[in-house]
Amino acid sequence: MSERILIIEDNLAMQSFLTTLLKNYGYEVICFEQGLQALQYLTEQSVDLILLDLGLTDIDGQQVLVNLRRWSELPVIIISARFSDDEKVQALDNGANDYVTKPFSAAELMARVRVALRQNTAIQVNNFDLGRIKVDPVARLVYCAGDEVHLTKIEYNILLLLIKNQDKVLTHNQILESVWGKNYIDRPEYVRVHVGQLRQKLEQNPAAPQYIKTEPGVGYRLVFE
Ligand code: CA
Repeated sequence: MSERILIIEDNLAMQSFLTTLLKNYGYEVICFEQGLQALQYLTEQSVDLILLDLGLTDIDGQQVLVNLRRWSELPVIIISARFSDDEKVQALDNGANDYVTKPFSAAELMARVRVALRQNTAIQVNNFDLGRIKVDPVARLVYCAGDEVHLTKIEYNILLLLIKNQDKVLTHNQILESVWGKNYIDRPEYVRVHVGQLRQKLEQNPAAPQYIKTEPGVGYRLVFE
């Protein structure tokens, strides 16, 4: 059975482009121009992924996301042209899984779609083998290129959080809240310092990291290919 992708997009040319693209890849596609119609549909029907435009004609895409997250963990990829870093951060903090900025290539979008669908079907943390980096969560041991690496508790917790959210962008505040606690939000410098240390210990070239990538103005993404 093919996976179902819901598109919420008021630009009909973009809607049609996305529909054709996704159908070519074998996905079933449902389209809505307005946020409220789509939310209504989602209370009645199941889908596997949502592609959401932010600039809609009835309610703002961010509002669709906030509303949806009250009752659903469905993966959401934001598709928008008008993305400032603040809006990206807001969308991620509101619970978006990822974002793609217009104009984007078909290949880029399809890669994000596959990752989001995979996260939906397999939210589990069995894969601690990132090639160069290996983590034994039971013993709390980390190995890099075969050698045991000593990480501080904070560094270890950041690494584990990034691994659990592999391929997904985490905002500074999401990392702060998860690793330090709610009282530490809006202290992105904490994250920067500790991610810098993690890179020194784990990356072959900390200045050009292969695993822990910076999303400028937004946060970090652990990439493993
Ligand atoms: Ca729009």
